[in-house]
Amino acid sequence: MDEGLKRELEAKVYAGERLTRVDGEALYASDDLAWLGRLAHHRRTELNGDRVMFNVNRHLNLTNVCSASCAYCSFQRKPGEKDAYTMRVEEAVRKAKEMEGEQLTELHIVNGLHPTLPWRYYPRVLRELKAALPGVNLKAFTATEIQWFEKISGKPADEILDELIDAGLESLTGGGAEIFDWEVRQKIVDHATHWEDWSRIHRLAHSKGLRTPATMLYGHIEEHRHRVDHVLRLRELQDETGGFTVFIPLRYQHDFHDSADGKVRNRIQAETTMASPAESLKTFAVSRLLFDNVPHVKCFWVMHGLSLAQLSLNFGVDDLDGSVVEYKITHDADAYGTPQTMHREDLLTLIGDAGFRPVERNTRYEIVREYDAPVPLAQRRAEPQQVWA
Ligand code: SF4
Repeated sequence: MDEGLKRELEAKVYAGERLTRVDGEALYASDDLAWLGRLAHHRRTELNGDRVMFNVNRHLNLTNVCSASCAYCSFQRKPGEKDAYTMRVEEAVRKAKEMEGEQLTELHIVNGLHPTLPWRYYPRVLRELKAALPGVNLKAFTATEIQWFEKISGKPADEILDELIDAGLESLTGGGAEIFDWEVRQKIVDHATHWEDWSRIHRLAHSKGLRTPATMLYGHIEEHRHRVDHVLRLRELQDETGGFTVFIPLRYQHDFHDSADGKVRNRIQAETTMASPAESLKTFAVSRLLFDNVPHVKCFWVMHGLSLAQLSLNFGVDDLDGSVVEYKITHDADAYGTPQTMHREDLLTLIGDAGFRPVERNTRYEIVREYDAPVPLAQRRAEPQQVWA
């Protein structure tokens, strides 16, 4: 990148000026990863100091049966397939209760678009989970699922959300976003929820007092300009509602192994490579700089591995999800030996070891517990410590 442009962008970031689409694309075009990290770390430190938030949650997938066949998805099964499953309500409660001893604060529930499960199943599951685990926040359903519920119930999203909130819903999940740009989207997404409906449903959720996350699936067939466009749409919606708590760049995954039938369901595998660690760090950094009105940027360590998760804390990330058990949507397992389970103590070590102060939060980003910084603050740097310093 031209030195003049570099100084110009740097000046904008340090002055707190909003970056444009052209700025975002220029940042992605830079090959100076350390410089990008420094800018993002400056902004992240302004917003969140030396804190790294985490929560203790469990992921529940009630069913893997799905009417859609998104090209990147290795999770979905068709009715009657060998390893297709759908949990009874009691089974979902039993699974959730398995982690009670971990002082669980959140259940994260996303599912396939089941062709025959009736609408009444979903509020019933939430109600039973809430009764069994009253202190646990229920973060459930993507905007895609909410639109699916409109279809199977004949009710508008307004009523759907009211019923789910009455049953215990406290947040939607951020999924179904993938990449909003239609040029890319039509090649990877098979469900009916595109930007217009995704934003309609999150806007409605925000108007009802829910706070929601936003995601972006990157590292497949999209280009940098599509990532910039994705973030700018979200930034504009955030200006309007202020309802997004966090932005979560999700790294697209290949199928590393598959089920009993040996099928690879990911249909874009042959034409894609997964984003490299450097590309992921760049994506975190540019997202932090561009999405200036979202309070937090999260690294979902299951998709990035623990080493990259630690490094990401110097590239704009201030939130790590979570104590995840049985995460299935985009990978059943991966080739990097990333564990599927981390416990509270593991996360404290991961964060403290990277030089940050762990803060446990709940779904609404309210503080549950603060932990000591790994070294007394007085002995620490006056400026954010950079990995390359
Ligand atoms: S991404 Fe979601 S909607 Fe698409 S096929 Fe997979 S489970 Fe179904």
